[in-house]
Amino acid sequence: MFEYAPAPESRSIVDIRPSYGLFVDGDFVDPEDGVRFKTVNPATEEVLAEVVAAGPRDVDRAVAAARAAHETRWSTLPGRERAKYLYRLARIVQERSRELAVLESIDNGKPIRESRDVDLPLVAAHFFYYAGWADKLGYAGFGPDPRPLGVAGQVIPWNFPLLMLAWKLAPALACGNTVVLKPAETTPLTALAFAEICQQADLPPGVVNIVTGAGETGRTLVEHPGIDKVAFTGSTEVGRQIARSVAGTTKKVTLELGGKAANVVFDDAPLDQAIEGIVNGIFFNQGHVCCAGSRLLVQESIADDLLDQLKRRLATLRLGDPLDKNTDVGAINSSEQLQRIRLLSDIGEQEGAERWSAPCELPDRGFWFPPTVFTGVTQAHRIAREEVFGPVLSVLTFRTPAEAVEKANNTPYGLSAGVWTDKGSRILWMAQRLRAGVVWANTFNRFDPSSPFGGYKESGYGREGGRHGLEAYLDV
Ligand code: NAD
Ligand code: MG
Repeated sequence: MFEYAPAPESRSIVDIRPSYGLFVDGDFVDPEDGVRFKTVNPATEEVLAEVVAAGPRDVDRAVAAARAAHETRWSTLPGRERAKYLYRLARIVQERSRELAVLESIDNGKPIRESRDVDLPLVAAHFFYYAGWADKLGYAGFGPDPRPLGVAGQVIPWNFPLLMLAWKLAPALACGNTVVLKPAETTPLTALAFAEICQQADLPPGVVNIVTGAGETGRTLVEHPGIDKVAFTGSTEVGRQIARSVAGTTKKVTLELGGKAANVVFDDAPLDQAIEGIVNGIFFNQGHVCCAGSRLLVQESIADDLLDQLKRRLATLRLGDPLDKNTDVGAINSSEQLQRIRLLSDIGEQEGAERWSAPCELPDRGFWFPPTVFTGVTQAHRIAREEVFGPVLSVLTFRTPAEAVEKANNTPYGLSAGVWTDKGSRILWMAQRLRAGVVWANTFNRFDPSSPFGGYKESGYGREGGRHGLEAYLDV
């Protein structure tokens, strides 16, 4: 093996302000009853900026702005005019993609290779895709003249900050809704950069409002009587609270929650490809992925070979500076999340599973966890049942296809699954039986704006992406 020279992406392209306000009615405004808190770079623990934790009066103001914009400026605009704004947003995202990718990696900890090559292209693609729908809603299968719902309150997580913003905003705006969006408390900066992009695109004031803050701000938004629609991505626990709080109201809800996906490898699978798919399935984005392939189900006859090869491959992953273009595994997003990953991993060992971690040096500062594999895992172990949301893979084995299906479906979640086999007929047989919103065949963690995404059971309800994603924002 040869040594890599560092290839750091320059951060001089981003201009982080020391302090940000809330984005309400087209302007950055000071809070009325919110307080300020700091956001840090998880790779260095350096303070990046101060942002507002919006209070009830701030949320109220944002909802009022969104309501006025909906009534007077946005829902009355012909679809082809809304489309122009969405195309403009998409193009500006593309133009500023290098800056946004660097900012995302600084605030979130994800490798620049991913923010540059995965997150940002998908963000732009999502706006382009829904721009195309804005003037064709009458042909989407929801009647000749489907109407928007009104004001959407949207709460998103920290694992794909700008991509989740795109998944929420693009279909909502295309359908003629206005939005109040709350980014996650640890990753507010790209949403605030997007607020600037709204200004740059001359988006009418109040169509997009961004209120930063933590769970309390999210709860205030979701419970606000002035919104017509709640869209949430995050933990199942908070999803449950939201479902309870909107019950009995007329608010429409979509929930995209956790997962514990099975990645099923049969003995006839192309092994080299399967190894790459397993690595991408669970170590992409440090495993902070709701649809991550966190349970590897491998056919018993090939388990030893596959595990040897997998560990050899994991030993080549480079962990470290998210801005280094060689980096495969970046920082864990927060110290809270790191503690949760450590806790569940320790429990895995205590319950009798065998732990192996890739040999790599962890930086002194920041939040880090090495790529880790647990073998000897049983279905009863907590690491096989609970979402770790980190770079931790639990390996189980099976003998027959029927056993693979039974084990794969033995989870309260149902967001995604993967199947690796040479046989097309087996892929279809498995796909029919796996209780998961997305089933990938001989690949994993592939996304496209035209493809619907969403879960069964405790993974939530509603679909995002594709024609299906329009339904969540139309009065149908
Ligand atoms: P979380 O559900 O608490 O946070 C997600 C978003 O919801 C954030 O913006 C947060 O501020 C907001 N929020 C928190 N409480 C709220 C409330 N009562 N009402 C409205 N909004 C609220 O998730 P977390 O604490 O950041 O992570 C905990 C676990 O959740 C993770 O370990 C992981 O298992 C899971 N998770 C899943 C996803 C996903 O994409 N499905 C994303 C993040 C976290
Ligand atoms: Mg942060």
